[in-house]
Amino acid sequence: MNALLATPIAYLKGVGPQKAQVLQDELGIFTFQDLLYHFPYRYQDRSAFHDIALINGEDQYVQLKGRLTHISEIGSGRQKKLLGRFSDGSGSIDLVWFQGFQWIKGNLNVQDEYIVFGKPKFFQNNWNIPHPELLKVVPGLERKGFEAFYPSTEKCQHKGLHSKGLSKLIGNLFEQLANQIPETLPPLICTELNLLPRIKALREIHQPSSETLIKAARYRLKWEELFFLQLELLLRKGVRSQKLKGYPIKEVGAAFMEFYEHHLPFELTGAQKRVLKEIRKDLGEGTHMNRLLQGDVGSGKTLVALLCLLLAKGNMLQGALMAPTEILANQHFIGISELLREMDIKVALLTGSTKKAERTRIHDGLLSGEIDFLIGTHALLEDTVQFKNLGLVVIDEQHRFGVAQRAKMWRKNTTPPHVLIMTATPIPRTLAMTFYGDLDVSVIDELPPGRKPIHTIHRRENHRDKLLTFIHEQLQFGRQAYVVYPLIQESEKLDFKNLEDGFAQIEEFFKPLGYQISMVHGKMKPADKEAAMQEFVKGQTHIMVATTVIEVGVNVPNASVMVIESAERFGLSQLHQLRGRVGRGAEKSYCILMTGDGISKEAQKRMDTMVSSNDGFVLAEVDLQLRGPGDLMGTQQSGALALKIADLAKDGQLVQLAREKARAILETDAQLIAPENALLNQALREVLKNKPNWGRIS
Ligand code: ADP
Ligand code: MG
Repeated sequence: MNALLATPIAYLKGVGPQKAQVLQDELGIFTFQDLLYHFPYRYQDRSAFHDIALINGEDQYVQLKGRLTHISEIGSGRQKKLLGRFSDGSGSIDLVWFQGFQWIKGNLNVQDEYIVFGKPKFFQNNWNIPHPELLKVVPGLERKGFEAFYPSTEKCQHKGLHSKGLSKLIGNLFEQLANQIPETLPPLICTELNLLPRIKALREIHQPSSETLIKAARYRLKWEELFFLQLELLLRKGVRSQKLKGYPIKEVGAAFMEFYEHHLPFELTGAQKRVLKEIRKDLGEGTHMNRLLQGDVGSGKTLVALLCLLLAKGNMLQGALMAPTEILANQHFIGISELLREMDIKVALLTGSTKKAERTRIHDGLLSGEIDFLIGTHALLEDTVQFKNLGLVVIDEQHRFGVAQRAKMWRKNTTPPHVLIMTATPIPRTLAMTFYGDLDVSVIDELPPGRKPIHTIHRRENHRDKLLTFIHEQLQFGRQAYVVYPLIQESEKLDFKNLEDGFAQIEEFFKPLGYQISMVHGKMKPADKEAAMQEFVKGQTHIMVATTVIEVGVNVPNASVMVIESAERFGLSQLHQLRGRVGRGAEKSYCILMTGDGISKEAQKRMDTMVSSNDGFVLAEVDLQLRGPGDLMGTQQSGALALKIADLAKDGQLVQLAREKARAILETDAQLIAPENALLNQALREVLKNKPNWGRIS
């Protein structure tokens, strides 16, 4: 960093060791630069005033200009307070103080003109302003411009580092820096994108001279933040693909051809074909593939995975497919074995419940190369699982796997196997670009033909009778139904329907009508779970009452109803996953979201979104708006992305733009070493130095 900007904050005029400590501990401000990048969260235009008559609580803060007409003390003892009546011509309001009366009385004069600033509160049918800020109006010395408000904490406030205090320090900082704030972006970019120079942007964001300039300053600083982030991600990706060699899988190979020509159960969708092409290109290049495959629930990712495994096989390599649950691993094993039935390919299944003897046989078969594809759960990761020549690993539903687990698969061979990560939880593009910035991304954005959109309905408790009748109707058509609950055990605090009660209720209604009901939940033994699942898959039972263990991957095309109980407790992506369990056959399918009566606005929005859209990507975008990137991606990963000013949820376009610009630059200068990029290179290094440990996140 520029030496001056790197100066410890204790050396700033007005700080000293004690305040420096608080700034560090509470706000993470260690250096001059840190303070410079501690941005206001809002501004108050000093020359804009509210009318007292119009105060209605819509604005959190108000600024008034008027006269103090009356001051009085009321109440006694601890109830005592000081009231000041304040009028501005449009109306009057009480200013209230609960302490510091003497000082206030001694300093305020009735009939003088003041500017009042504060948060109105509604109390006993009237608006008043507790502990407002007051400033006497001095004719000829009108206040102009904007006041900046800074995030602060209680401990900071005790040390005088409230918003005003911080504001003052920033003033001192600009004095001490005396314009020595170097530019970080090349002039070409600044002109092309019409960006304020860095120094101007930093000045305006702290001490703005107009609303327009606040906007321009924020834009420049967001841009800078996102641009360097993308530059970093792309550089890293470039380095990885240069360094890491992968097995060249150049031939289509006999296995693929045989399957494609004789056993492919249906024509691939256009999207499947395109994605396959992208993957083939990666595999053939001799570098290491690290690709994320996003595709909505039911878009046919498994078939793509199988075709990739066949490519490996045709190039004398083994393949592995890892799933997050045993149910899903089983299902993949059964499905894939069935598809490969007439081919000479050996597939094995390895999960937590695989018996010891079988396990040993599998270990041997993998080492000798007799087994071609291994399908399984986390059990694949164990060190005892060794391959003769593992060339490709497919990881299904990646959000269940941590970074460390993925890295473990890499080490299963001297040359790391290619990795294809498949997820049905679409991540909004802008997020993917950042969180998985060093992965390549493929998208299946098309469903196999003949799918009918799932009809989604939101119902409240008072419609329960109708719900049961509706399920009954569907069963009479020969269909099956899921009923999913968010909980396993009755929770004391929350009055949610519990799984067992629900099961009892369903049984009471449907058993006498001659229907069978299965129950599956996370606390069951894997074997029991599997048995119950299989009964449902085979159609021996008609209703499956379950917790979210069925969320991932279960495929029962005959099921046409998905009832989600206490749906308000699920996030959008989970709701969408659950809904994806139906609509897999030709029949019209229904998803019924059951909620209580009084649900939050946010929950209502989730229900409305589910009802109005079947598109996982649309839902992902709404989810991002509702929950923000941190919640969406998990705290561990979002911590790595502590952005100061840009917002991945709101600044999607800017992310895209920054990405494109960064890519264009690296296209002509992959390592950022050309003389014209010296400035960028240096600025990037400073950004990185100044960043908490980013580490590998993918
Ligand atoms: P997901 O992407 O959710 O993993 P699956 O791979 O389970 O989806 O596929 C969902 C269903 O669609 C499966 O029953 C599968 O056999 C079927 N399917 C996959 N590809 C096609 C296709 N090209 N045409 C018709 N059906 C397909
Ligand atoms: Mg799947």
